[in-house]
Amino acid sequence: MRSSSSNSLTPCESGVLVAISNWEADCVIIHHLNGGSSGFPCEINDDPIMDLVIPKNETFPHAEERRLLYVAITRAKKLVYGFYHPRTPSIFVRELSEIPGVKVHDPRFAPLIKAGGMCPRCKSGVMSAVWVENTIKLLCSNGDECGHSTEIRCPECKVGEILPKKARNTGRTFFGCNQFPTCKHIYKESIS
Ligand SMILES: [Zn+2]
Ligand SMILES: [Zn+2]
Repeated sequence: MRSSSSNSLTPCESGVLVAISNWEADCVIIHHLNGGSSGFPCEINDDPIMDLVIPKNETFPHAEERRLLYVAITRAKKLVYGFYHPRTPSIFVRELSEIPGVKVHDPRFAPLIKAGGMCPRCKSGVMSAVWVENTIKLLCSNGDECGHSTEIRCPECKVGEILPKKARNTGRTFFGCNQFPTCKHIYKESIS
């Protein structure tokens, strides 16, 4: 892997990837796989400068940056390292984790366990949402026999943890993603 900075992907400078499109390496390192306005893809929706560099007929979200990411990934013969802020991974990290055969080595992007789903440890219990020490977790219905429990991951951003919150106006408890305001996922009824 070359170490020159011109061969790494920096936020909103995705054009540099063109420079590496003629060579291959065992590993490719992609920096700044973050969300937000300084991330990759650059999540500025109505920036007139972005309109200038991205053709107007591109209707697929982040089409140009997606294409460049593809170039970077397909240069790797063995492994792709992506670096991102733990709280704000790029939507590309989530999308990559959902491609069959792609393994993102970050436990937060492991297949989601949902309430009502099968327990991944004993494969016979059902995971259900229960209160544990002022928070809510998923617990296997086989109880102590299996003992598997896990925090509830947000089904929308897949990064956040679902936690109980109190509505400011009514004082009612509801459940929402702790990545708010980046992710606004809430459960209107019960978790299921
Ligand atoms: Zn179990
Ligand atoms: Zn979320």
